[in-house]
Amino acid sequence: MTDLCIIGAGPAGFTAAIYAVRAGLSVRLFESSLYGGQIVNTPDVDNYPGLPGLSGAELAMKLYEHAARFGVEPETRTLTRVALHGEVKTLYAGEEAIPCRSVIIATGASHRKLGCPGEERLTGRGVSYCAACDGAFFRGKTVAVNGGGNTALEDALFLANACEKVYLIHRREEFRADRANIDAVKKRANIEFLLSRTVKEIRGEQKVEEIVLSGTAGQEEVTLPVSALFIAVGLQPNTALFEGQVALEGGYIKAGEDCRTNVPGVFAAGDVRTKDVRQLITAAADGAVAAIAAGKYLA
Ligand code: NAP
Repeated sequence: MTDLCIIGAGPAGFTAAIYAVRAGLSVRLFESSLYGGQIVNTPDVDNYPGLPGLSGAELAMKLYEHAARFGVEPETRTLTRVALHGEVKTLYAGEEAIPCRSVIIATGASHRKLGCPGEERLTGRGVSYCAACDGAFFRGKTVAVNGGGNTALEDALFLANACEKVYLIHRREEFRADRANIDAVKKRANIEFLLSRTVKEIRGEQKVEEIVLSGTAGQEEVTLPVSALFIAVGLQPNTALFEGQVALEGGYIKAGEDCRTNVPGVFAAGDVRTKDVRQLITAAADGAVAAIAAGKYLA
């Protein structure tokens, strides 16, 4: 039986795989879609020590190659159910049952939605959650970005290189992004701030044509003609599969810095667990911690 199943092939999952194999464990790594996790959408990963100037996709490829050197490649499976209690844990992909002795959950988080009219209908028709993926379609156009975190500001900077104008819409006056990103955005002449505003509606027949903004400080509603809206309002943990199996807190898997969940032999690593700092490097660090903890549990 497999010693360790890792669910999710992002930075946490790949790092866990590398550490676990090197510790002598038998490992299987499962991924439901593209490997690499959220970084694949990041144009420049400039804060991973020792690897400046790489794109997220390049870094994802390096993680893949590194794990493959140790004989682990992500297996594409959509897991439909898990049974994590007891000495034998079982993952199910439809009818297929995959038994193992321990599990690391590294399923990360996905883009949060705004939930406003037009968002779902116009997704892929001007509504996007990935500036790096879709920005090039809007070269020379006027677009908007919604959000006040690092993703939104980095998206605005990225889009400002190609688009004529970028509106940066945020629901407060202060940004939660890093100082460096805020300063960089302020220097761009073609980024206009629309603060204390939220997107009320996205309009357009076949594609995005305009967005309606409400004011959070009593300002009048405004309608902006734009070709695209890039939504960067944070993350939602991918934990639906684990509800009722492990303890959750605010939707995240409850686990401390030791990555242990409330279920013996089940560990959580990366953005999916309760933590303060969700960064590439902390996800990778979690992968190492969780793999070592799994090794100790199995011993
Ligand atoms: P985030 O830091 O959680 O920021 C989400 C932003 O969206 C916040 O400004 C929030 O506003 C706003 N927001 C949330 N729900 C909203 C809603 N319903 N309507 C309007 N606005 C809403 O998310 P993120 O930017 O995706 O970043 C996620 C994590 O990755 C963070 O830890 C971030 O630092 C990290 N990250 C790091 C880098 C880097 O270091 N280079 C790059 C990208 C991401 P409030 O501020 O009012 O809550």
